[in-house]
Amino acid sequence: MKEFVRNCRLCKKPMKSSPFMMCPTCLRDSEQIRSFIQKNPHVSVTEISRYTKVPLEKVESMVYLGYNSKNELESELH
Ligand SMILES: [Zn+2]
Repeated sequence: MKEFVRNCRLCKKPMKSSPFMMCPTCLRDSEQIRSFIQKNPHVSVTEISRYTKVPLEKVESMVYLGYNSKNELESELH
């Protein structure tokens, strides 16, 4: 049987089959970003990148993939 390999949703690197959409590195990064955003809800992606040490490009695609609903919530506040 061929081993099922999927690509990480975020960095697009192939990874072994796992229940997650992201590779372990991206999972860890996204956890960091998630908790940072929870503590600092109004930071920009540049600040997130600077404080979490995650490359800006990755932060941007993470925000794009995972925080669309959050953005909608925020726009309701304005
Ligand atoms: Zn990844």
